Amino acid sequence: MSSTPLPWTRVDAVLVDLGGVIYLPDHDRMRAALARLGVDPSPDDLDRAHFAGVAATDDFTSDHSVWHSYNLAYAKVHGVPDDHLDHARTVLLEEFAKGDVWTREIAGARAALVAVAATGVRVAVVSNADGTVEAQLRDDGICQVGPGAGVEVGAVLDSGVVGVAKPDPAIFRLALEALGVAPEHTLHVGDTPAADVAGARAAGIHPVLVDPYDHHPDADVVRIRHLSDLLPLLGRSAR
Ligand SMILES: [Mg+2]
Repeated sequence: MSSTPLPWTRVDAVLVDLGGVIYLPDHDRMRAALARLGVDPSPDDLDRAHFAGVAATDDFTSDHSVWHSYNLAYAKVHGVPDDHLDHARTVLLEEFAKGDVWTREIAGARAALVAVAATGVRVAVVSNADGTVEAQLRDDGICQVGPGAGVEVGAVLDSGVVGVAKPDPAIFRLALEALGVAPEHTLHVGDTPAADVAGARAAGIHPVLVDPYDHHPDADVVRIRHLSDLLPLLGRSAR
């Protein structure tokens, strides 16, 4: 979908964000929360609302500001009227704060991760999360550090564990160190411009923006709709 020329010539490693790339908020959980607001959402709106939420998220100075913007845009997608938006933000904040919301696997994401790794690139996960993602990925059989049921990755960087979060380039540098790769030969695939694109660039890494609903048509970044769209951009064939 992107007409931006590829700014890389060789790819040794791919870093992968989780929310919006591998997982989305669970439909049953979000439907129950939205029912408290009198909303009965369609499945497509539930997924689209996430991407509207991250598109509205540009202030990463605190968790509060991140979720304030996200939840406001999330509620608007579902047609919550203006005079109910404050209540909607509170309800959504409570639901996300309960944890275990990011469990809906995006169709085809697992297969795409397998295919990316099969090209021979090194892979690591870089996620702003609550310290639980390494166990979740392992339990779901998606990926793990070392051999296992899923894709073998070089590292899982969870901000809740390492103590630095995107867009701080420090979390990306930890991934580069773990994989032993150079930033100019590394891509980071994520869905949030302010965290993933800005953070990767600050570390000298090439960002790739997952933008399935075309929220960022004018963004000066390589855009894809789904992780599987990365494969033809790697300049490698599966080994
Ligand atoms: Mg994300």
